[in-house]
Amino acid sequence: MNFTEHPAFVFPFVVGMLFIFIYLPVIYVTWLRKNSLADFKTILRSIFTTNTLKAVREIFSECLLHRRIFRYNIRLGYMHMSLAFGWFLLIVVGKIETMVFTHDGFNPPYLPVFFKYFYPSGIPDTFKGRFFLMIMDLLLILVLSGLFLAFLKRFRSRVLGMKRTTKHIFPDRIALTFLWFIFPLRWFAESVTAGIAGSGGFFTLGSGRALASFLPLEDLLLPSWWAYSIVLGGFFFALPFSRYMHIFTEVVLIFLKYWNLATPERQNAYADFEINACSRCGICTNVCQLSADAGITHSQAVYFLRDLRYGTPERPVLENCFLCGRCSQACPVEIGIDQLRIAGRKRMMNAIAPAAEMRPVVSANGEKVDVLYFAGCMSHLTPGIIDATREILTRAGIRFSVLDDREEVCCGRPARQAGFADQARSIIARTTALINRSGASLLLVTCPICYKVFNEEYDLPIPVEHHTVFLNRLMTERPSLFRKSSLRMSYHDPCDLGRGSGIYEQPRSIIRRTGVLVSAAHEREDALCCGGSLANLAITPRQRTLVTDSAYQMLTAGNPDYVVTSCPLCKKTFAAGKREIPVADIAEIARMMLQPEEILHPEKAGEAELESEGQEICQ
Ligand code: SF4
Ligand code: SF4
Ligand code: SF4
Repeated sequence: MNFTEHPAFVFPFVVGMLFIFIYLPVIYVTWLRKNSLADFKTILRSIFTTNTLKAVREIFSECLLHRRIFRYNIRLGYMHMSLAFGWFLLIVVGKIETMVFTHDGFNPPYLPVFFKYFYPSGIPDTFKGRFFLMIMDLLLILVLSGLFLAFLKRFRSRVLGMKRTTKHIFPDRIALTFLWFIFPLRWFAESVTAGIAGSGGFFTLGSGRALASFLPLEDLLLPSWWAYSIVLGGFFFALPFSRYMHIFTEVVLIFLKYWNLATPERQNAYADFEINACSRCGICTNVCQLSADAGITHSQAVYFLRDLRYGTPERPVLENCFLCGRCSQACPVEIGIDQLRIAGRKRMMNAIAPAAEMRPVVSANGEKVDVLYFAGCMSHLTPGIIDATREILTRAGIRFSVLDDREEVCCGRPARQAGFADQARSIIARTTALINRSGASLLLVTCPICYKVFNEEYDLPIPVEHHTVFLNRLMTERPSLFRKSSLRMSYHDPCDLGRGSGIYEQPRSIIRRTGVLVSAAHEREDALCCGGSLANLAITPRQRTLVTDSAYQMLTAGNPDYVVTSCPLCKKTFAAGKREIPVADIAEIARMMLQPEEILHPEKAGEAELESEGQEICQ
């Protein structure tokens, strides 16, 4: 049989490949045109720096090896790695094989893909020839093993560490169907060819001989290569409209990330690349408490991004989210899911509502102090935190004033999260003026949300400290001010303080200095949300309670004396309802552990006794 007689079967593959190589640059340029001149200047400034090399390294470790998914679950990581890296190597080694054995570096692009058809016995029986045959067969086995796991995942997702699989839409199903068939058909076509030619690698020749015992290989030769070419071409046509668009887009996204194109408000091309780089792997769904505890399965990051890609997400999808950051933390593509959701809410608010009037902020008292304490609206709902902070500052002899003691001052975050970006900006400007006027050298906050906003959205001339950092420093500098106890405490990392601001150690250090730290499941980056987040505008009270109760159970599993947190909203959320184990803010624990005045200042205690005696005498 003359194998080179019917090369027309390469046509579907070639057309599909041409389509993808024309479509992708066109769509990427369309997105990049959304960039401003400043964005392009930013890219130009970064492009010839070591950042580009770092991007290449990340592309290798994440797009091919899938290191982050490996860390999440080894079997899932292997599945992704074997498909991505295996396919990549089949292309690269296949190209080298073609160049080596045809002695021609400029072969048509389809030749490496269909090499075994065109050169069924063209690889000499030398060490080099046997080496390439073996490597190509091993790579095919690698990809097929990944495909087997992907198939298993659809029916037994828990085996690969996934609680559930993501819901596919029509273009995904089409592309997935083509993908299922690509490598089994490659194996079949190469095996049939090897069986006829009596030459091939250990895997394809072995299976070719086995197939020859019950199949008419000569009749199947061309149909099998046609089928392989058709599914390849079909996959390329379906790719840009399906989740597999992420394959190429993630590569560009990584370059743009290292070229500093990400802006907090996601108003440039970066957002388009992020939205299209989502592989719909479903890891975000796996870590979301809304699905695990409250039965909400429509608004997770994967569905929000999918809806954003094909149009505008419905309001329930946009709003039913705590913005807790658990999905962003787990996302192997590092998509800024919270920023995209806030940007989406902003667009929605602009479309459905006129600019809302926010209450004006009035001036602070103008006193000169060392520490300006901003309690924030949430701390005002849990006044115990404000009282504790005031008492600690007073006992430490620090001159302070409370910025929002008598007047309504806001950090601007509620307006921003609800999508009122312009109002948020004007609130920030007014609050900045008040802070500047105070003359303080430190802004102290007891709310992680305010802390994050002050750090990220304000341009203040003084440092901002969350009270966990401040109290830990105070305990280091003034250890005699506090005492240690035998209280056992578990600690809940508030989302905006932990994942949001990277503060994990200081609160734990405070607990160790004042008592015993009891560890709990889901700590630090993996901490659960308390369920109280005001960012979720759509959840029902019942669903909220389910999330809160589940997180509280995790924190109390070690039977501590206290559940401690450092966010007024977390405290309020956990403390609502009947709780056997009390919930306290870290400031309240620190106040409880202040040394009694008579131990700290025995001389003053004596004076106080005399004074009170004197008063009694006077009375
Ligand atoms: S958002 Fe991230 S974690 Fe979620 S499906 Fe997309 S890539 Fe996976
Ligand atoms: S931010 Fe939190 S609540 Fe929202 S989708 Fe992600 S994990 Fe779920
Ligand atoms: S209240 Fe606390 S745990 Fe809940 S979302 Fe806010 S920071 Fe996270």
